[in-house]
Amino acid sequence: MSTAALVLVCDVCERRVEGVDGYVTVDEIAARDRGPEIEAWQARGGSRSPLELLEAPAPIAWHIYHKDCDPDPEHEGYSIMASQCSTWPQLVAWTSHVLEKPWARYTTWGPLLRGILTASGQSAAAGR
Ligand SMILES: [Zn+2]
Repeated sequence: MSTAALVLVCDVCERRVEGVDGYVTVDEIAARDRGPEIEAWQARGGSRSPLELLEAPAPIAWHIYHKDCDPDPEHEGYSIMASQCSTWPQLVAWTSHVLEKPWARYTTWGPLLRGILTASGQSAAAGR
């Protein structure tokens, strides 16, 4: 695995987020609020029609933003500065920390990780 810095890409401008220029963030309150809805949907079990699958309650999305790109910079969220999750060990440490949060499973931490892995892998392969 590469020891190069991770590549965090801003959800808005699609340019790299580094240092203290931005962060990874989620609306923690929304995730807590969405929890019971997701639990109820999962608890109901059984087979689902395609329409029912479309109506599944969505997990709350993590975002990567530059401070200047954040569409809602005043929001009360759970945020990790880019400078604090810019290496693989830092990302693993944050993953273990975030997954201890009871609301983490109502968020898109998994897809967020895949996005960072993809961006960082492509960058490493390109020798950037
Ligand atoms: Zn940006």
